[in-house]
Amino acid sequence: MNNKSTHLDLNGRTALITGATSGIGKATALALARHGARVLVSGRDAIRGDSVVAAIRAEDGVADFLQADLGDADSTRKLARRALETAGHVDILVNSAGIFPFGPTAETPVDTFQDVYATNVRAPFILVGELAPKMAERGKGAIVNVSSMVGDFGMAGMALYGSSKAALNLLTKAWAAEFGPKGVRVNAVSPGPTRTEGTAGMEDGLAQLAAAAPAGHPATPDEIADAIVYLASDNASFIHGVVLPVDGGRAAV
Ligand code: NAP
Repeated sequence: MNNKSTHLDLNGRTALITGATSGIGKATALALARHGARVLVSGRDAIRGDSVVAAIRAEDGVADFLQADLGDADSTRKLARRALETAGHVDILVNSAGIFPFGPTAETPVDTFQDVYATNVRAPFILVGELAPKMAERGKGAIVNVSSMVGDFGMAGMALYGSSKAALNLLTKAWAAEFGPKGVRVNAVSPGPTRTEGTAGMEDGLAQLAAAAPAGHPATPDEIADAIVYLASDNASFIHGVVLPVDGGRAAV
């Protein structure tokens, strides 16, 4: 008998989601809570964070907001420690926080370079360094990184952002090798253009990017969140180190 369907029951699991005050991270926090996980919602904006927590609690879910600035290494390290203090353990880590300033390389200030790498690469690096060993001690855990399809191919104007996601893709595989033997699965989703608060105002660019893929339209945050929940669940128990395109088929054509 196939009893896999029960594995999407995340009761008893605690999930820390960065970037959970908006977009893909928010949709993921709501979806994980609906599957029974206790959710630690993180971001900088306490007002939006509290409203995500309130939405989860309104559906009888369990959630807390943990404020952190992932552009700051100390704040990032503290987030991991506060998550452990708040919940006792973290079973699922979703690295969704990210920034995506686009533009020509020659016009990109070095501060922007630092900010992109701090938020998109260093923060997941610190959080995994703090939390994956604790998961390994318990013999079980799942980490899902939110990458991007432009981490896989070159696009004018996306050199900096795309390179940060390419780094995250390699980290996903390296962490799968490092922590997988200790029971911690590390995977990534690679979204295509997705309508979020962060991409509001980029409608033309999103539509243009989406037109190159079989689906032909941008994703909703829920469509990305569903793939993240799957990778975080025991239904994906034999999946380690993949970067799963959730891109309307863009990687295929
Ligand atoms: P979004 O709506 O702009 O949300 C970004 C989230 O990241 C917010 O919750 C924000 O929290 C958090 N964040 C940004 N900088 C932070 C910092 N310094 N410290 C703490 N939190 C920070 O973005 P999204 O569109 O959902 O994107 C989510 C992820 O998906 C990103 O990694 C992005 O690269 C990736 N992605 C998006 C698309 C797309 O088309 N939307 C496509 C491919 C990949 P606060 O505002 O509370 O600080």
